[in-house]
Amino acid sequence: MKRREFIGQSLAGGLVGTAGSQNSSGVGQTQKSPAFEEDVRVTVEPAAAGKPHRGKVLASIAPHSDDHSIAAGGTIAKLIDEGYTGYLIRTSNDEMDSYDLTLGETVLANETENREMARILGCKQVFDLNYRNHFMDDVSRVELRARLIFLIRLLKIDTIVSYDPWGHYEENPDHYVTAQCVEAACWMAAGHLDFPEHFAAGLKPHAVSEKYYYARGPQQVNRVVDISSTIDKKMAAIQANKTMVGNMVRRLRDELAAQGKKLPALETDAPAAIKNFADLRFREAAARRGKPHGLEFAEQFHYIGPDMTLAAYIEKNAVAR
Ligand SMILES: [Zn+2]
Repeated sequence: MKRREFIGQSLAGGLVGTAGSQNSSGVGQTQKSPAFEEDVRVTVEPAAAGKPHRGKVLASIAPHSDDHSIAAGGTIAKLIDEGYTGYLIRTSNDEMDSYDLTLGETVLANETENREMARILGCKQVFDLNYRNHFMDDVSRVELRARLIFLIRLLKIDTIVSYDPWGHYEENPDHYVTAQCVEAACWMAAGHLDFPEHFAAGLKPHAVSEKYYYARGPQQVNRVVDISSTIDKKMAAIQANKTMVGNMVRRLRDELAAQGKKLPALETDAPAAIKNFADLRFREAAARRGKPHGLEFAEQFHYIGPDMTLAAYIEKNAVAR
């Protein structure tokens, strides 16, 4: 994932900056930005009892294996625990993310670890679309969109977890290209004139009704998901991405070494160093996001639900045919 630190990640509502805190360069004070403040209400999604989502289908769609685990692993595992059938769609081949492997070794390691990561989260099946890592801005968006429309119709996906196509300051083209194609595909998959050959093959138009969008930078957060019941699965999934997280550990060690420093927690054997790093970085981040809402651990999203514009009118006026 190679993320920069989130800005304002600890603030309820995901607003930019934290009033009265020092900024990352240690110079001056940051202030809460007025951006996004109007009319944004944050809904806290608690753990549900039983299997209220039984019969529904979820897909986590992201370019890189660790996007799924780091950004939304707790929510994916929670929704599957609550009855969803889950699928994991990885759009890139993750060929760029290792420390000392060749490109071919990197592809195989991340493919293998992605399947284990998806298994830990409870996903039924993995689809690797295998576009070249870091080159997705050269991918035909119409092609990627069409592949996603096919999968939405084939799997009858009701709910998507993915990158926010409107998240700010995203520097990785794989993230924003995937996000834009996902958003368009969710909409077009419901069209009865888009890709008529799908219908000849037995598929039907299918609308995605719920979206959980996450971002690495500022976004309009309106949904905080309580992942206290699935934090251990999230952390296990992150540790399953051992090539990617191991790369983060080794790079940080190199950075510190160049400064004549080291962190004893990262100087152990690889599995222990990966676990320590994941706890310091990602368990801590989940705790920070939960704290303003009284939750032990949380993930945050821009959530888009089904169109309920006419729901009250329909409830009051609809009659049997
Ligand atoms: Zn990524």
